[in-house]
Amino acid sequence: MNNHTEMDKRSRAPIVAGVIGYPIKHSRSPLMHNRWLADHGIEGTYVPIEIAPEDLETRLVVLAADGLKGMNVTIPHKEAIFALAADLDEAARNIGAVNTVIFRNSGVFLGINTDAKGFVANLEAARTDWKTGPALVLGAGGAARAVVYGLVQAGVRDIRIANRTRGRAETLARDLAAPGHRLQVIDWDTISTQMGDLSLLVNATSLGLEGGHPLELDLAPLRPGALVTDIVYAPLETPLLQGAKSQGFETIDGLGMLIHQARFAFEAWFGILPEADAALRAALEDDLKS
Ligand code: NDP
Repeated sequence: MNNHTEMDKRSRAPIVAGVIGYPIKHSRSPLMHNRWLADHGIEGTYVPIEIAPEDLETRLVVLAADGLKGMNVTIPHKEAIFALAADLDEAARNIGAVNTVIFRNSGVFLGINTDAKGFVANLEAARTDWKTGPALVLGAGGAARAVVYGLVQAGVRDIRIANRTRGRAETLARDLAAPGHRLQVIDWDTISTQMGDLSLLVNATSLGLEGGHPLELDLAPLRPGALVTDIVYAPLETPLLQGAKSQGFETIDGLGMLIHQARFAFEAWFGILPEADAALRAALEDDLKS
């Protein structure tokens, strides 16, 4: 089938799911979900839906009535949706944010968070030995909370957390404390002294994002063999990952987490866990370059 025929067919298909945000036009989610809908023969389309914060509640009622299975949620709605959800899964409750909504009959919705599972699944797909030693997570925003929750769930026992604003890291460590796990807050300016025994270093701050400040970190003290991962995926190779690669460390970029969190959302709506195949990743990489 050529692209035009496929697009014509899609434009007439019912909307079955979407992503809400403000702004939303740069979201990569439609690319992933529309491929999976087509791959699995599910009639319908997944669309970006721009909603201003002041319109959120009223628009939700309309979307639920329109028969959507659910929605992904991105900036700035993750916390507002958390407060509006009729029910939350354990991940969303712990992380304090919702990235996926599942509509139920009568317009109420369940809020779940697939970022933590997505983060872990991305690491699992690449390597098996990242859980053996301590992990250091940089950041204490919503994404860092998902990363730390994911690490705890995956069985990482020793987790260090550093954030520019130390108080946010302390709140995170308190909220996500779990028996048998040591969540230790360290000062942002002592990061380099806490890297000698790490298995895993995660950047979960927004440093490194295109057009923003890079994460400037001396990786010389990092244990040889440690895995370096960044959840920022635009650019795909952040300055942190570039530096790590040039010093011989294995790296994992943030695009895999984006793909895996989307797989779990799709599964929650349609009962099918789609593949994270190389062709999808290549399509996303092309999209990021454009
Ligand atoms: P938040 O705004 O909630 O948190 C931002 C974090 O970055 C905070 O820890 C903040 O520290 C830190 N930070 C920002 N600027 C600086 C700076 N100049 N110096 C030091 N620290 C800084 O954002 P999110 O947690 O929601 O998202 C973080 C990143 O993760 C984003 O780039 C987002 O695109 C990416 N992301 C990727 C996903 C994926 O699937 N790959 C999924 C979700 C998010 P402080 O508390 O001191 O302000």
